[in-house]
Amino acid sequence: PNPPALLLQRRAQVLSPSLSISYAHKLKIVRGQGAYLYDHTGRAYIDGVNNICHVGHSHPHVVAALAKQAAQLNTNTRYLHETILDYTERLTRTFPEPLRVAFLVCSGSEANELALRIARTVTGRQHTITLDWAYHGNTNAAIDVSPYKFNRKGGRGKPAHVQIATLPDPYRGSFKGTSAATGVAYAQSVAEQIAVIRATTGQGPAAFIAEAISGCGGQVFFPDAYLSTSAALVRKAGGLVIVDEVQTGFGRIGEQFWAHGPQGVIPDIVTLGKPIGNGHPMAAVITTAEIARAFANGMEFFSSFGGNPVSCAVGMAVLDVIEQEGLQHHALTTGEYLKRGLLALADRHALIGDVRGQGLFVGVELVQDRETLTPATEAATRVVNHMREHGVLLSTDGPFDNVLKIKPPLAFGRLEADVMIDALDRALTAPH
Ligand code: PMP
Repeated sequence: PNPPALLLQRRAQVLSPSLSISYAHKLKIVRGQGAYLYDHTGRAYIDGVNNICHVGHSHPHVVAALAKQAAQLNTNTRYLHETILDYTERLTRTFPEPLRVAFLVCSGSEANELALRIARTVTGRQHTITLDWAYHGNTNAAIDVSPYKFNRKGGRGKPAHVQIATLPDPYRGSFKGTSAATGVAYAQSVAEQIAVIRATTGQGPAAFIAEAISGCGGQVFFPDAYLSTSAALVRKAGGLVIVDEVQTGFGRIGEQFWAHGPQGVIPDIVTLGKPIGNGHPMAAVITTAEIARAFANGMEFFSSFGGNPVSCAVGMAVLDVIEQEGLQHHALTTGEYLKRGLLALADRHALIGDVRGQGLFVGVELVQDRETLTPATEAATRVVNHMREHGVLLSTDGPFDNVLKIKPPLAFGRLEADVMIDALDRALTAPH
């Protein structure tokens, strides 16, 4: 068998069949650099979808910081060391007041697990509102607020303590467009779920958890005023607002460092993950001093690996690179350039129903018919496979797996955008 097939055989022997693999790719990847991945034959691929290696694969500044700190000290947060303070002081400064307290953990799931625990402890309530098609992680509490998992194959359905609000999708949902009036209309669904929780428990929710842009829901950008209106409703009912920035944060959207900014809301709790360690397992929960105090209530919190000196050194280096290389601005301008190219393709290819994006967080929704919006799921798979053969890695997401998701490392530039657009053009033209 060829080398990727051999790896698949070995995986089947030793790894659980439930461990997912990006079958669309099926490559033996041996090296990464900047916006590129290289397979065992030395062939380069543009990595169009890896939002973990945020500042670029194997970025030399991050690698050097990791190696330097690993050679000097690594231990857990029960020992007094400076790295965790240097890092959390700098990290929390990227947030608006009063978000000034950090908990450092190791994965987005852990961050959401902790955020939910904080909200439930502080409010003394259990019920939580989540958005349809959301994914917040694969640990118990996180999966319970992830309809993307519990309503899909193998899922156990909605738990009793969770209510699902409508995904505010300006393209496919029942209210169209991105105006504030549409945002307010969608927020009614949050009001309805608060009413359901009140009817069941006699009180409001512990929390409302949402991404600022829905990733797994299909790269869906919420209409104006949606999050701020929903947040006001939840707070009025005594609940906390958790915004999951695991995918959306760290300058990717270009305009602001965090995606909740443009939505005009300051969350009570923000969860971070993927990009903050550029591939090193790091995540965080950011909240206010008041909430952190109420949560502590005498109980200790401890994570063996969260906030260790090596992770903190890596985290600092990632922030250095974003700043020194102007990556937030780069994401904004490259994203605009990419979007213009994609919109030009939409003029020529009827399969493209919608192009949406902010910075380098972009979605291209493929439809069989622009009137009925019938999802072009098979075409999306075909396009992803064709593009891989032409050196560009993408994948699909959304309820119908018909949205091409484009979330490259921020090392992705205009040259890569040109190649991606050309590959997409060919894939959409190719006979099948
Ligand atoms: N929240 C969101 C929005 C995510 O996309 C993910 C991962 N895809 C998670 C949480 C979970 O993060 P992790 O896989 O690091 O546990």
